Amino acid sequence: MHKHTVANTQLTDRLGRIHTSLRISVTDRCNIRCFYCMPEKDVEFCPRDELLTFEEICRFVRAMLQVGVNKFRITGGEPLVRADLPDLIKQLHQMPGVADLAVTTNGILLPDQAAALRAAGLRRLNISLDTLREETFRKITRREGLDRVLDGIAIAQTCDFEKIRLNAIAIRGLSEHDVVPLGRFAREQNLELRFIEFMPLDADTAWQSENVLTGATLRQMLEAEFGPLEPVSRTDPAQPAIDYRFTDGGGRIGFINPVSSPFCSTCNRLRITAEGQVRNCLFSTAEWDARAMLRQGASDKELIHLVRECVAAKAPAHGIGTGEFVRPQRAMYQIGG
Ligand code: SF4
Repeated sequence: MHKHTVANTQLTDRLGRIHTSLRISVTDRCNIRCFYCMPEKDVEFCPRDELLTFEEICRFVRAMLQVGVNKFRITGGEPLVRADLPDLIKQLHQMPGVADLAVTTNGILLPDQAAALRAAGLRRLNISLDTLREETFRKITRREGLDRVLDGIAIAQTCDFEKIRLNAIAIRGLSEHDVVPLGRFAREQNLELRFIEFMPLDADTAWQSENVLTGATLRQMLEAEFGPLEPVSRTDPAQPAIDYRFTDGGGRIGFINPVSSPFCSTCNRLRITAEGQVRNCLFSTAEWDARAMLRQGASDKELIHLVRECVAAKAPAHGIGTGEFVRPQRAMYQIGG
């Protein structure tokens, strides 16, 4: 029986939100340059020795497991550019108490790494796919590579992952022609697709609310083509997505609407950046330095205390569209989504 100590109680904030999910960025580097995330040129990446080592990440995760954080998502930049990522996946997969382990990737390196990640114990993959058109892919990413992403998806489908989801960022004035083809592709591939609204986390700070193609608009576009969508009840009340199924049996589709329909009231997510800074929100303007503590040999109790302070300071919501919204210093690639 667990001794009821401070360390074992959950990470609950002032609004009673219990934090059970940690997004772990393992690098700020990426092999493409999506304009809704990174600058095109002259990106200053973190020096290698400023990044948490796999051992430090595992230390932090072990401490978090003691306070009820048991769902982990590996992000970046692009996590597959971090060397030996399957080693980290293996260590996390073997850790008692890890209930869920997933990776979000742009898919470019999946053809080479899908099998190794699966063999290391990874069960769930989210693959970014905003378009099926080369030209739009180049416009968004400022790089080539759509064929590699599609190869990566095809190869991942042969690797027996429990779940493969496609994530698409939809942007007004750019993505309208991709929405239905992406829906059709996901139906044909029997893959779940989720559209994510464009958020003010682009490094060029060009985001405007007019550029947001809302979940409601996307749903209308898809229903016009594929018929009515039927809501699917949530299995996890904290999940950000609103899921639907095609009534013609064509699978499931979801919408993550942080701008038009924020879901902060049920947020259970924390983040740690590649340099070991803990964030209580994607849009947090404050950070708690776990790396310094890890490198000073802090105990689990001290790390937990730091994260408790971070959670205690969590704002009720991101505030986008209200007078309160303050853009974080970091862009998406420096946080990890
Ligand atoms: S914006 Fe922040 S509080 Fe809201 S759901 Fe996202 S991480 Fe949670």
